[in-house]
Amino acid sequence: MKSKALQAVLDRVTSRKTLSKERAPSPLGLHPGEETDLARAHQNDRFHDECAVFGIHGHEEAAHIAYLGLYAMQHRGQESCGIVSSVGGEHLAHRAMGLVADIFGRKALARLEGRHAIGHVRYSTAGESLLRNAQPICANTDGGPVAIAHNGNLVNANTIRKELEGRGAIFGSTSDSEVILHLLARSREPQIEDRFIDAISRVKGAYSIVLLTDDAMVGARDPSGFRPLSLGRLEGAWVLASETCALDLIGATYERDIEPGEVVVIRRGRLRSLRPLSQRAPEHFCIFEYIYFARPDSNLMGHNVYEFRKDLGRALAREHSVSADLVVPVLDSGAAAALGYAEEAGIPYDTALIRNHYVRRTFIEPAQAIRDFGVKVKHNAVRSLLTGRRVVLVDDSIVRGTTLVKIVAMLRMSGAREVHVRISAPPTVGPCHYGIDTPTREELIAYDNTIDEIRQIIGADSLGYLSGDGLRQTAQSGLKLGICDGCFSSEYPIPIEAEDDLPQLSLFRVMEEEVDQ
Ligand code: AMP
Repeated sequence: MKSKALQAVLDRVTSRKTLSKERAPSPLGLHPGEETDLARAHQNDRFHDECAVFGIHGHEEAAHIAYLGLYAMQHRGQESCGIVSSVGGEHLAHRAMGLVADIFGRKALARLEGRHAIGHVRYSTAGESLLRNAQPICANTDGGPVAIAHNGNLVNANTIRKELEGRGAIFGSTSDSEVILHLLARSREPQIEDRFIDAISRVKGAYSIVLLTDDAMVGARDPSGFRPLSLGRLEGAWVLASETCALDLIGATYERDIEPGEVVVIRRGRLRSLRPLSQRAPEHFCIFEYIYFARPDSNLMGHNVYEFRKDLGRALAREHSVSADLVVPVLDSGAAAALGYAEEAGIPYDTALIRNHYVRRTFIEPAQAIRDFGVKVKHNAVRSLLTGRRVVLVDDSIVRGTTLVKIVAMLRMSGAREVHVRISAPPTVGPCHYGIDTPTREELIAYDNTIDEIRQIIGADSLGYLSGDGLRQTAQSGLKLGICDGCFSSEYPIPIEAEDDLPQLSLFRVMEEEVDQ
């Protein structure tokens, strides 16, 4: 018999629990909300990475280049984006909801004059998807205009905010990033970069920041180095980007990564590197960037993401071997790990699940009820490859289990004889406090279910996750980095101040004037 907890999760993942009486199915068999929002629902099953930052200093086409940089990093946030340029000591901004290519037309880019620009893409949770939340955030200080683009989450932002409010500060938003601007504005240091350093010496948590002043660009990473930030050069200009795939698109050369705790100040073509923070922290690079978030063609801290994912797949095959005929990835997330698994296990690899890459939120749902439409619109199986086969299905992670319940069923319906699920990371048991918008702990399928319960829920013949040790060893030998694996181990390197234990995005209440589109 199923336990209550197991039944609750089954209800949840088959998404019937949420259907209250007043939300009865329509005659089409679809439910209110499902009818209007299937594609979005598919996305909302998942965590969402917050953002990417980009900056370029000293290029004739700064805003255009920033646009391309953001375009390359669209995977890190699809709700809103913005670019701020600097010309003649003034800042020009353009921020809007939507995808980079939809927001920035020739006109908008042409208005963003100047040889320096920073940009940001972000995801925000439902209800928070507001234009006023878009970054970069701009402010005028007595030291000139400042714009900030931030990737990460500050764990003591609320505490600092309350303290500053107690001293008379008026916040225009509740964004954690705005706290940095307030601290900067209050600093008595003469130079903006020193004011910025004053500010970051007060904050705790995760930040990769690009800051634009009237004459300089500043890049910084927190002392633990949770989020990436790479440095590049393009025709004499300096470039900062969350991921190297942005450098590749604009044709910039990769110089190096900004080190944890490092602040770089770029002014008049010269770069100064500072190590201003007295806190010495062990490095805690977010391992989930490698496992899922970053683009596989990016190199993080000098290590290629795709290759590391393959290594995880190999380690997974060593830990969880099984007799099978075919290794199939859940595309795109499981592709590299599945290949690594197949190579290590000596089992043929085939993409027997095909993904439609063009599913967008604006997409119109069917007028007729179609079974499992939500998953089928995104994935479909290649029946001829699957009939009678014993399949190893590989993905990088299970969050709520929703995707796998449907995909395993789809493989079986397409003729698979056995389906063995393999996950190239340990069970996701906790939220991220350092900049990734995660479901609550209770919503994570692995939080309150054993592995065998999860196997039953997703309907697999067997289920194997990479162990925590397997992950750490692969990271140690492949990356040689200190990592944060808090979402898998519940060991959080920077303690959360209780009142600050809020997702970054629910903090946003920004009221900003927007430049016309
Ligand atoms: P779920 O259906 O909720 O179990 O989600 C699992 C799927 O979400 C897997 O295919 C993962 O690759 C993907 N995934 C894992 N983490 C994230 C994340 N933070 N954001 C978006 N998708 C994710």
